[in-house]
Amino acid sequence: MSQTAHAMAGAAPGLRGPISEQDYRERYRYSIESPEAFWREEMQRLDWMRTPEKIINGHFGENHSRIRWFEDGVLNASVNCLDRHLESRGDKPAIIWEGDNADHQRVITYRELHEKTGQFANMLKTLGVKRGDTVTLYMPMIPEAAMAMLACARIGAVHSVVFGGFSPEALAGRISDCTSRVVITADISRRGGKQVPLKKNVDEALAIKGTECVEHVLVVPCGDAPIDWQSRDIDACAMMKEQSAQCAPEEMNAEDPLFILYTSGSTGTPKGLMHTTGGYLLYAAMTHQQIFDLREDDVYWCAADVGWVTGHSYVVYGPLANGATTVMFEGVPSYPDYGRVGEVIDRHNITIFYTSPTAIRAMMGRGDHVMDSSRRDSLRLIGTVGEPINPQAWHFSHQIIGNGRCPIMDTWWQTETGGHMMAPLTDVDKVKPGAAMRPFFGIRPALMDAEGKRIEGEGEGEGSLVIEGSWPGQARTIWGNHERFEETYFSMHPGAYFTGDGAHRDADGDYWITGRIDDVLNVSGHRMGTAEIESALVAHPAVAEAAIVGFPHDMKGQGIYAYITLMQDAEPSEELARELNDVVRRDIGAIAKLDAIQWAPGLPKTRSGKIMRRILRKIAANEVDGLGDISTLSDPEVVEALIRDRIQH
Ligand code: ATP
Ligand code: MG
Repeated sequence: MSQTAHAMAGAAPGLRGPISEQDYRERYRYSIESPEAFWREEMQRLDWMRTPEKIINGHFGENHSRIRWFEDGVLNASVNCLDRHLESRGDKPAIIWEGDNADHQRVITYRELHEKTGQFANMLKTLGVKRGDTVTLYMPMIPEAAMAMLACARIGAVHSVVFGGFSPEALAGRISDCTSRVVITADISRRGGKQVPLKKNVDEALAIKGTECVEHVLVVPCGDAPIDWQSRDIDACAMMKEQSAQCAPEEMNAEDPLFILYTSGSTGTPKGLMHTTGGYLLYAAMTHQQIFDLREDDVYWCAADVGWVTGHSYVVYGPLANGATTVMFEGVPSYPDYGRVGEVIDRHNITIFYTSPTAIRAMMGRGDHVMDSSRRDSLRLIGTVGEPINPQAWHFSHQIIGNGRCPIMDTWWQTETGGHMMAPLTDVDKVKPGAAMRPFFGIRPALMDAEGKRIEGEGEGEGSLVIEGSWPGQARTIWGNHERFEETYFSMHPGAYFTGDGAHRDADGDYWITGRIDDVLNVSGHRMGTAEIESALVAHPAVAEAAIVGFPHDMKGQGIYAYITLMQDAEPSEELARELNDVVRRDIGAIAKLDAIQWAPGLPKTRSGKIMRRILRKIAANEVDGLGDISTLSDPEVVEALIRDRIQH
């Protein structure tokens, strides 16, 4: 697509981004040319019990990477998120919680969060949880999830949060992988007017082989029905009340693990990535403050679940380390209808809203009036993460959700990176909708061509996106399988971290994420990213969402198969199919002919809202027997419909 044609279109001129162009360039250059000095300054953001002297000790090599940051520093993450704010922000709301049912509201100040976390930590200690032990959390989006995470951090235990939508099997695999002795859950979680039986799922998971390590299950009662207590279960709320709020924080080394988090599994078996106490926390806090241009009186809402890395870095650790007010929302954007997001924003006067392209496209699919029940006057910045944001969804965010006033921060990053790696970071009229644009401070991206050679210079190029050099927020290992860590991330291009994503760099040196490398199409020898074609399709007024995959084609090597979800008020037709093909031909070129178009009522998504192309590829290739694990899908029925209506060739 003519990407530059989208630049500036519709963006309000003169809107300031987080950092001025010149400040960004100067600070970025300094971060790359003098990394020791740069990070020595930045580390002051945290309160250290022992200030680090050694700043960077990193090296990426083939199968022997070394990644250490602030390695002689000592700190505690919960102290940084709580204790240090008590004096100046004790009465400031730390968490504003809104339930799935909007009548359920809670406001928790920093002082209260500190006390509750202390009680939670003492409860874990009473159960024998020690420094270095792993604890699995399987929780709803309730403040107790944040308390449990911070309580683990306080006593040096390593948490592993498993998203509350996962099946008992998925939970069991993650419990046994890190051998947790304690599981923290709730009886139920509420989402979209329905109840998810978390405790029942835990009981089922603990009946599966490999989970014998679990001795105690802490249950936070949330529902109205009686709970089916087992002998290993403990009522967490009752037990917390008996605990002292004072819990001396464990003195942790900067490189000690803070948590393990399993990736969402878009591409295969989940990996338990380990993040550290010092580097991770610093990087989460720093990116949160700078990319969102955080101010003291902001009310900040990240709509991600704590089960994802976004929930870790940008619901809990980043905002709390920065002393911000973080909004936790238990529900879903579509309940009771798609106007909910705007209503939550108005109710709490939210100033910064961080969400996903999936959620935006779902709202967009309802038409421009979806936001009519709210004003969103308080909003001043919108962020997105998870997938490339199509220019169409960018404009909807900017013009409809943000009333034309808000910069849109498209943040590219991964579970492995701990925090944002790229974002526009500039004035709105210079932002190119759909581009992640620029590396964050200290991040050195590069592109590798199809032969594995580095594309030199800073101008135009397209290839595999790598990062040349370490940054503090980087994951240090895959829990229990360091070999897999080395192989996955450092063997592909020795000396660089392999992201698995593809990117295009334009003549200005700005980056556009084109999708996962595995998703790149090769049509008659031409390599094409899926993101570009999808963006062209979504720009058509009848299209709400599109997914492109390749399928084996006798003549071209790969043909292009398009799954199209229409806007609520649009109907499929031959004519529309022709129009869509015209759009793609115009924006991408004649080579990008859509060989098959399937009208899809919905697309298979991971629980974090990403399109699962692995499954779409199989359906397109007619290999419908070996779909692999689909238990992590949010809506498995969608797959059946797609199989039934697939286009056979
Ligand atoms: P797995 O690694 O198990 O397959 P996953 O990659 O989906 O799962 P995450 O770490 O949550 O798990 O997602 C990171 C990926 O999401 C990135 O590698 C990229 O493909 C995509 N992504 C995230 N943010 C953006 C963005 N702003 N633009 C484009 N792609 C993005
Ligand atoms: Mg990944």
